[in-house]
Amino acid sequence: MIDILSSSTFRRFPLSLTSDPGTRLKYRSIKGTKDLLPAETGLWHHVEADVRYMMSVFNYREIRTPVFEATSLFARSIGELTDIVTKEMYTFNDRGDESLTLRPEGTASVLRAYLQNNLGEQAPLTKLYYLGPMFRQERPQAGRLRQFYQFGAEAIGSSSPLLDVEMMILPLEVYRNLGINDTKLALNSVGCEKCRPRYKKLLIAELKKIQKSLSPDSQARLSQNPLRVLDSKDERDRKLTADVPLIKDHLCEECRPHFEEVQSALNALNISFHIDGRMVRGLDYYTKTAFEITHQSLGSQDALAGGGRYDLLIQELGGKATPAVGFAAGMERLMIVLEKNKREIASPSPKLYLAALDEPSRSWAFRTAVDLRKKGIAVETDYLDRSLKAQMRDANRLAAEYVVVIGSEELKSGSGKLKNMRSGTERPVSLSDLAGALG
Ligand code: AMP
Repeated sequence: MIDILSSSTFRRFPLSLTSDPGTRLKYRSIKGTKDLLPAETGLWHHVEADVRYMMSVFNYREIRTPVFEATSLFARSIGELTDIVTKEMYTFNDRGDESLTLRPEGTASVLRAYLQNNLGEQAPLTKLYYLGPMFRQERPQAGRLRQFYQFGAEAIGSSSPLLDVEMMILPLEVYRNLGINDTKLALNSVGCEKCRPRYKKLLIAELKKIQKSLSPDSQARLSQNPLRVLDSKDERDRKLTADVPLIKDHLCEECRPHFEEVQSALNALNISFHIDGRMVRGLDYYTKTAFEITHQSLGSQDALAGGGRYDLLIQELGGKATPAVGFAAGMERLMIVLEKNKREIASPSPKLYLAALDEPSRSWAFRTAVDLRKKGIAVETDYLDRSLKAQMRDANRLAAEYVVVIGSEELKSGSGKLKNMRSGTERPVSLSDLAGALG
């Protein structure tokens, strides 16, 4: 893949171009949402291209689903008692009084589309990816937004532990291709419908002994979702639960070898990871493998990506029992890591700036710009009747590679001077063959 960041056709400028005009403005973006300004979209395009490239290398094909769905789809799949469903969803009734929700994650919608369009009948294994905005009403902070972008993949139809590993390698390869190698991979198994209920009983019995000392959040989780008590960020909770049994040590005859095979496949590929027996993740649908990829430069919201297996979910949504595995990765957090590692970002710049000295030259320059753009050459010209000095400043600001100044002389003779803005050198050029001169 070409390295756009260091390509000479891209100009560089600092990221922090956002200025805040203060409180005078009548309309401002909603808390927790963010405008992506031209200074940033160059890097976004680059990262999106990297994601799409890697997805195609791994043979995943894109699916685009609507940003809103029936509320019950998310409640059913993510879990009625999860934080996302109880506290964070943007849910509203439309004019027909149907309860709709802006998607808080991608998997539920992808599976709904998979079932609705009978994708499972077209191939025994369906490999899909997505990239788009998700919505959660969380408390905004660095790396935590209310509208944020995720890319993710789902592989539906196989119970192979190798696919679990593929789901970990895929985002890791996206990161590696962007120059991020210092990520951490945490792995766990959360069991299945056979071993989890048994383990839950054991865990609840242990947690009941310390119930009164737990944080209010964990006390509430104890009865609703006891595994999430282990995931608590509260330091006191973590100390209190330091010695409780972990599900990875209570897996059934099916889940244990699966967990072991995932680990040996990672080892065979020399991918470093650590087992985090307390990680359960915030979505209820996981079975067996659960994983998270973090980066230390992200601070408290350090997760770049997370995923796992969800062998029961398709049946839960009305399909026939089908094993599946997937991951989702945050785009904004990836941008934060990239910003921290490279202080500059890239943005496309014109190959040629056509400066014009008078009205006839201006209209010639416009026609020629249109003509060259049709040939795929990035051209800019002046639309503000500016002086030559101001047009040269504009060409510099845009980091145009070449400039040709057009006036009555040039139009009459049919030739001009092609100025290389980097070296400052000039050479004669025929106005009828600018494309050839630039090629
Ligand atoms: P999840 O869907 O919760 O498993 O999240 C997967 C990834 O999406 C996380 O590891 C984050 O990188 C990103 N993410 C989740 N929630 C947010 C949020 N509110 N704002 C920004 N990124 C998020």
